[in-house]
Amino acid sequence: MKKEERNKEKMEKGAERDVYAELGVKKVINAAGTYTMVGGSRMSERTLAAMASAARSHVVIKELQARVHERLAAITKNEAAYVTNGAACSLHITGAAAIARHWGRPHASLTPEQTAKCEIVIHRAHRNPYDWALRLLGVKLVEVGYPNSILPTTARELELAITENTAAIYYFFMPPGGWLPSGALGFKETLEVAEKRGIPVVVDAAAQVPPVENLWAITGQGASACIFSGGKDLRGPQASGLVVGRREFMDHVGATAFPTYGVGRMFKVGREEIAGLWSAVEEYVSMDHGARALWAEERIAALESAFRGSPNVSVRRVFPNEAGQPMPQALVRFNWEHRGVGNASESVSSRVLRLLAEGEPSIFSAAAGEDGIFVNPMTLRDDEFEAVTQRLKEIEKEIEKETK
Ligand SMILES: *Cc1c(COP(=O)(O)O)cnc(C)c1O
Repeated sequence: MKKEERNKEKMEKGAERDVYAELGVKKVINAAGTYTMVGGSRMSERTLAAMASAARSHVVIKELQARVHERLAAITKNEAAYVTNGAACSLHITGAAAIARHWGRPHASLTPEQTAKCEIVIHRAHRNPYDWALRLLGVKLVEVGYPNSILPTTARELELAITENTAAIYYFFMPPGGWLPSGALGFKETLEVAEKRGIPVVVDAAAQVPPVENLWAITGQGASACIFSGGKDLRGPQASGLVVGRREFMDHVGATAFPTYGVGRMFKVGREEIAGLWSAVEEYVSMDHGARALWAEERIAALESAFRGSPNVSVRRVFPNEAGQPMPQALVRFNWEHRGVGNASESVSSRVLRLLAEGEPSIFSAAAGEDGIFVNPMTLRDDEFEAVTQRLKEIEKEIEKETK
């Protein structure tokens, strides 16, 4: 059978389609973690079925939202919840809601001047590329403190940053060990200052599950709203986000977000994402997280022993991982003095990452300094972990050959 005929036949049998094969797009094994660049996490078959089921019929979106939000609030032990199309847009939508709340009127009715008058307080230590979502609102971002530990932010400094125009404090939540620098006032102290002044605190915890408890613990401490990415460890649709929080604040989110016209309408959430995220979070809260952590430890121990005694490759367990999650990952270092074959400026880690990407199967990972890479078990299946180990063994042989 000719290739085109085969493809045509496949196209008729929808369920068996392999879109990547049809398109000639290479599949990769994701050994880096929930990196958006390679599609974040992987949905379960049950969640995929939920999305397909949602796609097959029309419903009144507001009715679907009401049911799903009610269930999500219950299973995450929050007063209210809302499905968005990503954590980044959740930052924008909650920001718009905070502005609307500040003025006591719908966001769409505000003039640019009214918006520009509003202030959002944010620690300098918390500035990151995702805060474009706040910059785009047109508000004034008021920075406080320094992004280092020389002079940590004090409660007094945060108090002084709050004015009559402050609509919210945004707090980026990450335990020590993650990529965020130090210097911010502690979360508890931030909540105390905010509460005294009646200012809502909105938390970006996009990648802060695990631990699963963060779904309720962060708002439980007093944050008005907390944002999670649906496409990271929650294993929901890649373009989904979850906002949970206090009813008073979340009512403003609901009045601003999709399907409300205005900024909410720009961030359309499909019924597939709404149903898919509900299904994923339901699975996530009932999953055996202890067993999963144990599995990850076992995989890393196996990788360590696969290279024990090797003069060229060493494996070390690191904990927590680079996102500050309480999950172990492996740091694999390469003793490859032979730098820059074909490209004098290529570091050992770039070289290994390139070899992994170009290999069969193609493997995606993240650099750990100049001479190492990370192997993160969070997004790997058993067979994939095996494939990564095999490829690393091949690279070890290559180093042996070259350094002989
Ligand atoms: C990943 C991430 C986001 C964006 O999440 P999406 O769901 O991909 O939009 C925002 N903030 C932080 C801190 C993140 O790690």
